[in-house]
Amino acid sequence: MNQSFIINQLAEDRENYFNAVAPPIIQTSNFAYPTVDEFIAAITNEKDQHIYTRGNNPTVNMLCKKMAALEGAEDCLMLGSGSAAITDAVVSQVNAGDHIVSVKDPYSWATHLMTKILPRFDVQATFVDGTRTENFENACTDKTKLIYLESPNSWTFELQDLEAIANFAKQKGITTIVDNSYCTALCQRPIDLGIDLVIYSATKYYNGHSDVVAGAICGSEDKITKIFHNEFMTFGNILAPQNAWLMLRSLRTLPIRLKQSSETTLKVIEFLENSAKVESIWYPFTDNNPQIDLARKQMKMPMGMFTIALKTRDVRSIKKFCETLKYFLIAVSWGGHESLIMPKCAFVGENDPQVSMIRFYIGLEEADVLIDDLKQSLEQV
Ligand SMILES: *Cc1c(COP(=O)(O)O)cnc(C)c1O
Repeated sequence: MNQSFIINQLAEDRENYFNAVAPPIIQTSNFAYPTVDEFIAAITNEKDQHIYTRGNNPTVNMLCKKMAALEGAEDCLMLGSGSAAITDAVVSQVNAGDHIVSVKDPYSWATHLMTKILPRFDVQATFVDGTRTENFENACTDKTKLIYLESPNSWTFELQDLEAIANFAKQKGITTIVDNSYCTALCQRPIDLGIDLVIYSATKYYNGHSDVVAGAICGSEDKITKIFHNEFMTFGNILAPQNAWLMLRSLRTLPIRLKQSSETTLKVIEFLENSAKVESIWYPFTDNNPQIDLARKQMKMPMGMFTIALKTRDVRSIKKFCETLKYFLIAVSWGGHESLIMPKCAFVGENDPQVSMIRFYIGLEEADVLIDDLKQSLEQV
């Protein structure tokens, strides 16, 4: 199945809605049955039936089918946030007494889940530097049931060798999960590399318009069905039909948005690399990244997020730089049409060695416009 077919044709059912090109929003909480027997047949197999929108909804299911196909996964569940996807996926794989090995500094709420919530249920996690596969092997004990990955991870964009980690995890019977939000399936295909569950903050690139919070879990039919009947139905963090519809619309332009964001990012980075005000840049595809070979092997596109450190450590100058940028909004999140910055000085003290770090997300503006903006703002530092 090619990408265009998945995005434009797969799971569309146009004869059933007046041959409308855009699908309808099936805004309903429940579905009626003509006979008791048909109702009984449906409720014995809720995963495949429309009974209640907490389980299935046609608009949401259309999106799930497209997401699974893009991923090369057998099945997909859409959720109300990336954090819900992380929670459902991780909780589904562990019992009291189990151990998780996680890449260090995963997404902040994944860290919270593994350090604050799961220990209350006697599930412990060890965090390792993910740039060396041996670190995962060495941290595994006979209680380890799950390896949690995020490649690349936020702020410093370190990669993990997904294929190597999946190989050894399979031998030991350990489940692997990767947060693939940075890449999307168009850039990195973890299932093809042997990873069991791929999770997303679909709020980011997949939705791409800064107007929906959403999450996804992709994996085998067996694993997804188990999650559906347990965590998914119980925690109930569903994606509303209206938001699924907005995401279907977003998918139509996903390839072109990723291409634009990636191309502009390379131009912006080239400019920043030559700026005397910039000390360092963290990005998978800079020539001095020690993991560039792995990035080239594992990722098909460079993508649009990176971090810089300014040379100055003076917080007033750092703030001035951020505030004089006209096209970069100061905001959390990323993956939308608009360029963003997130300054580390919002999270750490004035004397912290990381105080001058600023995370950039490059949206869909013209490269020249962004570079001119950076130029005028760097002059003020
Ligand atoms: C934003 C983000 C999340 C959380 O997703 P939400 O949709 O905000 O709940 C998880 N992982 C990564 C890498 C993210 O950037």
